[in-house]
Amino acid sequence: MAKPVYKRVLLKISGEALAGDKHTGLDFEMIGSVCDTIKECLDMGVQVGLVVGGGNFWRGAKNSGGKMERTRADHMGMLATAINALAVADVLEQKGAEVRVQTAIEMRQIAEPYIRSRAIRHLEKGRVVIFGCGTGNPYFSTDTAAVLRAAETCADVILLAKNVDGVYSADPNKDPTAVKFDEITYDEVLALPGIGDYTAGAILSIAFGQKVPAVDGNVLRVVSRIIGSEDNILEDKTRKQCRQYMDAVMPAQRPGAFNQALMDLGAAICLPGGEPLCEQCPAKDFCTAYQQGRQRELPVRISKTKRRVEEKTVFLLLKDGCAALRQRPDHGLLANLWEYPHVEGQLEEEAAAAQLAAWGVTPHHWRKRLSAHHLFSHIRWEMTCYVVEVRGDGQPDWLWADEEERKRRAVPSAFIKLTRELPDGKDKG
Ligand code: SF4
Repeated sequence: MAKPVYKRVLLKISGEALAGDKHTGLDFEMIGSVCDTIKECLDMGVQVGLVVGGGNFWRGAKNSGGKMERTRADHMGMLATAINALAVADVLEQKGAEVRVQTAIEMRQIAEPYIRSRAIRHLEKGRVVIFGCGTGNPYFSTDTAAVLRAAETCADVILLAKNVDGVYSADPNKDPTAVKFDEITYDEVLALPGIGDYTAGAILSIAFGQKVPAVDGNVLRVVSRIIGSEDNILEDKTRKQCRQYMDAVMPAQRPGAFNQALMDLGAAICLPGGEPLCEQCPAKDFCTAYQQGRQRELPVRISKTKRRVEEKTVFLLLKDGCAALRQRPDHGLLANLWEYPHVEGQLEEEAAAAQLAAWGVTPHHWRKRLSAHHLFSHIRWEMTCYVVEVRGDGQPDWLWADEEERKRRAVPSAFIKLTRELPDGKDKG
């Protein structure tokens, strides 16, 4: 058997390719032949991630003909990619491949949410990971998603099946004036529709090897802490300073890896709020915030709009391996998501016990008391949280969810501290 050139590949397949000659919908003969090739790669030991487009069903704003709001039209495009992801997964499974679909927009009943570490674990186990819903953001193409997922999963190469032979200023099949770039500059990428400075930096550094910083929220936090900046990260000038700092320190060799490392550091170690895992951080020897013990004070974030503070007492109630969940109303903040029972105000233990009695449960082991906060755009939740083992059934609208059931219910990240207290919650968040 031939020896593979690449160990891990990220394959981008457009929706149009999945439609074959029909140009719309799904051509299972075409999908079958694509999946045969993927299976051959798997059998050679290549790890395969897949980003699928959705143009065979819906091409976002283009199909809406200007009659829909752009964001909603793009959301429909993301759903189209999810349909394609499921179709390809099904055919791959019929051919004997193990497959996981991960979506950038949560739809837990049909796919896993996108979690980088889990995706990498699946790839290492020889499973194909199909990434649906693009980047999860409107205004970004699935080609951008392919570059990001390739970078995040440390793929050796992006294989992009397109009917154009390079990077153009517009689609050359539709715009005869489109210009092909043999080289591309930061300003030229930035001038393309839907591209901001972060995406331009990520594309140029990761895909073209150019020394251009990519500053997202994670990188801004890491850099602010490392240099001990007290500037407000919500101001444009602070982001500009961060870019200048990165420009000065980033190496000319492998700039994409440098950007990626900072993004990963922010996402996995230098966490927001009071949560940075400094003891595990490779930057701790030169991090100003850590050396000065100010990692919880930085970065400075002063919003012009003051958030309303809401105090809550949240209960993680455990019984026979199950946790009590209830569903939020179908309108308003976090509509329809699942949550741990909670009440307004911050209750001391005696009042908390009285609340449990009112709900019809009896505590037999108070495991832990925690504090947590969560920021929404206009509200700050200040939470006192109790982890309690109880007896009794509680309220009629509660669901006692075991591990399997919990995987099917979307619990907002506002409750992440409690979710981590669950036996299956170790790698949540
Ligand atoms: S040492 Fe702590 S604060 Fe500094 S970069 Fe690392 S995780 Fe962030």
